[in-house]
Amino acid sequence: MSILSLVNAACTRLIESGIRPEEAGLDAEVLARHLLGWDRATYFTERHQKITRAFDKEYISLIARRARREPVAYLTGMREFWGLEFTVTPDTLIPRPETELLIETVLQLRPDRSINGVLVDVGTGSGCIAVVLAIEFPNMTIVATDISQPALAVAQANAKRHGVSDRIELRHGPQLAGLSGSLDLIVSNPPYVTAQAMQHLAPEVRDHEPHLALNGGAGGTETLRALIEKTSLKLVNNGSLIVEFGCDQEAVFRQIANATHLTDIQVVHDIQGLPRVGVATYRNNQ
Ligand code: GLN
Repeated sequence: MSILSLVNAACTRLIESGIRPEEAGLDAEVLARHLLGWDRATYFTERHQKITRAFDKEYISLIARRARREPVAYLTGMREFWGLEFTVTPDTLIPRPETELLIETVLQLRPDRSINGVLVDVGTGSGCIAVVLAIEFPNMTIVATDISQPALAVAQANAKRHGVSDRIELRHGPQLAGLSGSLDLIVSNPPYVTAQAMQHLAPEVRDHEPHLALNGGAGGTETLRALIEKTSLKLVNNGSLIVEFGCDQEAVFRQIANATHLTDIQVVHDIQGLPRVGVATYRNNQ
């Protein structure tokens, strides 16, 4: 049997398990290439080769896991974010495109890449935000916090992989606990899914990604609220908070930020026009 025939059979199996046809074909191919260590070009020229017994066994087992709706990124252990490869495990959320909007927003807010100061990434998970910002702002001190020790181990591996482990201080603990009040930027992709909405997420997310990183409590905004409320005590004058939130949470973001002495509140929309990122600034001369 050829690699291609096995991949086609795997695709059918994935469709039967409820995965959308356009995703199933790509997943079956990506998992085959992952095991073979092939890029797309090699796959297209070599896919008529006969399968080996070892490949057959490993591939069938990966496809069975995918059919149980394990995300591809956990099966390959990798996801690309901001053009860089990040290690991901079930202890970390898989980086999503909407979080690239958060990065873009930070870069627009601080166009001078040579600035100093302290930037904190709250709930760093895989460390994708902290690592990208450490690279983009080579003179800033980066602190990345998380309540999950296993997630911090993944963040550390990613910092190392991208050559910024000496630039990122990893801290185990909730939100901004233990940090002094002289932070220049606070960034976060906090958990913001409502407890009820958790039940309706895709099986990949609901059954495999860490609920700690997704579940924002009853209204979905408890974690966000706790973070914003502490922010003005921790930022330097003109320091800013940049957070990702759910597309129906703009009003809550504005209301909490307004109530906590933050100013210049802005909301950034994604390419679909949905509000996804909030910015608020602390000014002590108000
Ligand atoms: N955007 C994610 C999802 O819908 C949620 C991420 C988060 O809660 N921070 O799966």
